[in-house]
Amino acid sequence: MEQFLTAPAEHDHASSPIEVEHLTVSYNGHQALHDVSFTIEQAQRIAVVGPNGSGKTTLFKALAGTIDPESGEIRVFGHGPCGHVCIAYVPQRNQIDWDFPASVADVVMMSRARKIGFARWPRRNDWNAVQEALERVDMARLSKRQIGELSGGQQQRVFLARALAQEAEIILLDEPLTGLDTPSQQSMFRILDELHQDRITIMVSTHDLNMAADRFDTVMLINRSLVAFGPPEEVFTRPYLMKAYGDHLRILPDEPTLTIVADTCCEGDEPA
Ligand code: ADP
Repeated sequence: MEQFLTAPAEHDHASSPIEVEHLTVSYNGHQALHDVSFTIEQAQRIAVVGPNGSGKTTLFKALAGTIDPESGEIRVFGHGPCGHVCIAYVPQRNQIDWDFPASVADVVMMSRARKIGFARWPRRNDWNAVQEALERVDMARLSKRQIGELSGGQQQRVFLARALAQEAEIILLDEPLTGLDTPSQQSMFRILDELHQDRITIMVSTHDLNMAADRFDTVMLINRSLVAFGPPEEVFTRPYLMKAYGDHLRILPDEPTLTIVADTCCEGDEPA
């Protein structure tokens, strides 16, 4: 609903998709993020990793403009984070009310609210955008299905379709792979690869450090503050990992490569 109420943000395409300077976010006086600064370039693929409670979700919410910083600045394409249609935030699946009575197509259409405008009905081009988005994630055949009847992998693809129908240029995915089986994960990566080819900027939070190293060009390691930010081989070093995870991490002694086992996760797998 807030999409109807706020004016669309300005958008400067010459600016970086995301610039963050000295960001601090607190809940009731407790700092969840402290003095975080980074810049993200267009089409970058970033895995955001860190232990439970390290501030990954808080960072995404701040970037999406759904919570306010205590201090610091966030710029999305050169302007404040609120009101952008170019940024799509996909929350963790357990944060969504799957009993809400809506079809797959309805849920995807909701992402077009701002483009449709207040008190107007969707037009043909809106339905076309929804159809195209569902086709891209291979969910068109289930467009009339209630969202609560979908598997975890299908639900995740519907939310990617929402981001596509919104014509987002930045997509923030909060633990999209947690609990998905291998075929569903592969399907997600196929879609993410296509989005990368379309020069969409993608940030994905994950607990799977090995997957972050294999599938992303950049890793952001956080634990309330930014521990390291760069290519996986520069971030996944013993000192940085120990700084972020401390006792929750075991690094198996098979130098020169690091084998990493973090014990801060996870839900069980579920069917595709
Ligand atoms: P992560 O996504 O890495 O698990 P979060 O961003 O969810 O971390 O949480 C960071 C810190 O902020 C944690 O200490 C958590 O308990 C706290 N926190 C998150 N959301 C809230 C909230 N709505 N109210 C109070 N504290 C919160």
